Amino acid sequence: MLRVIRRTLLWGGAAFVTPVLLFCALIARPDALFAFSLGTGRIVVASDRPIPPAGGEQFLRDCDRLLERSPLKAKSRRYRVYVTNESWRQRLFFLWDPKAWGLAYGLAGTAFLSGANFETGRVVHWGYVGTPPRTLAWLCAHELTHLITFEHLGLARYRMPQWAFEGLADYVGIENRESFEELRDALGDRPADIPMMVRYGSYPRYRLLVTFFIERKGWFVDQLLHTRLTAEEANEIMRADAKR
Ligand SMILES: [Zn+2]
Repeated sequence: MLRVIRRTLLWGGAAFVTPVLLFCALIARPDALFAFSLGTGRIVVASDRPIPPAGGEQFLRDCDRLLERSPLKAKSRRYRVYVTNESWRQRLFFLWDPKAWGLAYGLAGTAFLSGANFETGRVVHWGYVGTPPRTLAWLCAHELTHLITFEHLGLARYRMPQWAFEGLADYVGIENRESFEELRDALGDRPADIPMMVRYGSYPRYRLLVTFFIERKGWFVDQLLHTRLTAEEANEIMRADAKR
């Protein structure tokens, strides 16, 4: 009896672990499923459709420039970005979060973008075309910032509050970065339930908090990586500062 139970557990465990390991291997080394690639520098982009050279080069330059400007320094010599235009590829690589525009699982320097038009520099997500400031270069810098955060923190990244994790990625990815005052005035007291914020997360509000702590409080990026402030506590500090 004991042997039967042990065997069942063993097979059950293997049946669960094997697909997980296969998926991890696929995320870490997906090249076989992407026929086209471009880039010889720090960022390489691969796609399941041909990449127009001019638009592709521009995309790599723009993404690299945004990372160069980031307060969080990249550690790896190479990052690989994969574009999943075809729906089955998109379903496969976005298994974790099918609604996401981009994903960085934190494995082997790979990130995934749901779909791209390199000629216009726009994200294409299930037929929806993203509008500036959330461009293809923004998405690339955003996802790579998540990867770089993993490089700095390892699994401790999961202790980083969401406002700091997403806010930093948004702060890095935005092309025309507003000052704290500009962003605060632009966002005003609008509730966070407008469709874009609900669908894509409250990134502008998170970015406002990150901008506040970096610009007004003079925080180093390390302080942001290791903060344990909740979004409410961070907001409270920002509000108290405005009253002074
Ligand atoms: Zn993100």
